[in-house]
Amino acid sequence: MTTTNNNDNQPIEKIRNFINGEYRDPIDLKYLDNYNPSIGKVYSLVPDSNKKDIDLAVEAAKKAFPTWSRTTVKERSAVLTRIANCLEKRLEEFVIAESRDQGKPQQLARGLDIPRCVDNFRFFGGLILYEKENAYMQDTPIRAINYTHKRPVGVCGLISPWNLPLYLLTWKIAPAIAVGNTCVCKPSEITPYTAYLLGQVLNEAGVPPGVVNIVFGNGPNAGSALVEHKDVPLISFTGGTVTGERIAKMAPLKKMSLELGGKNPAVIFEDCNWEETLSTSVRSSFNNQGEICLCNSRIYVQQSIYDRFVKEFVERSKKWIVGDPTCPNTNMGALVSKEHLAKIEYYVELARQEGGKIELGGQRSHVTWGDQYKDGYFYQPTIITGLANNSRVIMEEIFGPVVTITPFKDEAEAVELANSVQYGLSSSVWTQDITRAHRIAEQIQSGIVWINCWMIRDLRTPFGGQKQSGIGREGGEYSIDFYTEIKNNTIRFYNNNNNNKVDLILS
Ligand code: NAD
Repeated sequence: MTTTNNNDNQPIEKIRNFINGEYRDPIDLKYLDNYNPSIGKVYSLVPDSNKKDIDLAVEAAKKAFPTWSRTTVKERSAVLTRIANCLEKRLEEFVIAESRDQGKPQQLARGLDIPRCVDNFRFFGGLILYEKENAYMQDTPIRAINYTHKRPVGVCGLISPWNLPLYLLTWKIAPAIAVGNTCVCKPSEITPYTAYLLGQVLNEAGVPPGVVNIVFGNGPNAGSALVEHKDVPLISFTGGTVTGERIAKMAPLKKMSLELGGKNPAVIFEDCNWEETLSTSVRSSFNNQGEICLCNSRIYVQQSIYDRFVKEFVERSKKWIVGDPTCPNTNMGALVSKEHLAKIEYYVELARQEGGKIELGGQRSHVTWGDQYKDGYFYQPTIITGLANNSRVIMEEIFGPVVTITPFKDEAEAVELANSVQYGLSSSVWTQDITRAHRIAEQIQSGIVWINCWMIRDLRTPFGGQKQSGIGREGGEYSIDFYTEIKNNTIRFYNNNNNNKVDLILS
């Protein structure tokens, strides 16, 4: 549905696609509503693009590829550094825009999301300067040199979700273009605004037209057209597991990275550092409204400290401030959309039906921080205990401010419970016994295990999930490998026995 009135008589801005360095309306002039989730009103319109727009963007990216892929590493590194600098100069503008579009507290966007977007460009702009090439002498009577080098893949399709909108998009754009690819991005239609602003930054930074193209629209139209496009050999996708599976089936022979859903466990032993464990557990459950794929949503606590943990965790979480996202001491803003709010409400109701006890929350927040927020999608931090280990609330991804706590008796049971879901993205282990920490970390099925910490990320390290949480790894050299084709070239320079027969056999 397209709305042209947000009840405040504010002009509603039209977001436009960014193709070949220019902003353009979608070809069919169709738009979707874009909401400010904190006030529950439409504040901009986002292109409802389709295959025609994607075709145009892929064409532009294809045209830009030969020149961009032949630029020197030094030139590309300089462009990425300029993007980082331009973005950094406009940091506050992006912070405000990201918070308004997604619902997150500005303070979080200021401390996490947008600085990390800057880091993404600066990091990959630097990393490519130090790329190693490998050469091998041929180990046969025919003397030759083999050398391997990494070549850009071509036009990359980059599809991102709504929870860390610009951060996850730039996490893909930066390495893709750093190694000489061009790209077509399809950001989430729910949070398009900072990707829209990014086009301006790319032009300010002098990125040649066509190197980065951004097409807005929903998944089944714009997203599928990008995945299926014959001239797009690589797809980097971050989003839900169901969508990821669909995409993998749509393009089985493309190079693909799938960063999917999670249901991450925190495993807490009786010898943990109590204060650190407690305070980090609150953050890891409710940061960004629990809408980070790395949030812990299942907390397993050793039986001997279970009651005390539940009591103190509830007390701490009560202090987690839900409120006005523009206010500096707000910890939790609005959920991203009305549909997502309904999903959270559904799961909390399900928890009640499954016999869970709501220790905290379990309902929308009573808005006391301004009349304009009364229709916003605010929900209380919610803590649930007493659920059976195979209940749907424990097994399924909720992706909101809802966390379950379950006791365990020993290490074996802790590992079994941690591994009992279909996901395997991240986990955390809390104990001061370092050998136990390693023992548990080794057994937990997840791409990332944090020991006595949470969400400490170094851009050089691999990022990705096991099981239904995805396929592939990105980050540092893993991104460079993913966004390139590794080629082997061989040059013969002499036969040491001068015997052409050997040549015929081996060549
Ligand atoms: P989603 O799967 O609904 O959408 C993600 C993106 O895919 C959007 O841009 C959407 O328009 C597009 N899309 C949807 N259907 C498509 C199709 N048929 N073809 C092509 N594109 C399509 O996910 P979401 O609701 O935006 O994001 C939440 C999910 O993302 C959660 O499951 C969360 O765990 C996951 N996530 C994972 C990571 C990670 O790194 N593993 C990070 C962030 C979020």
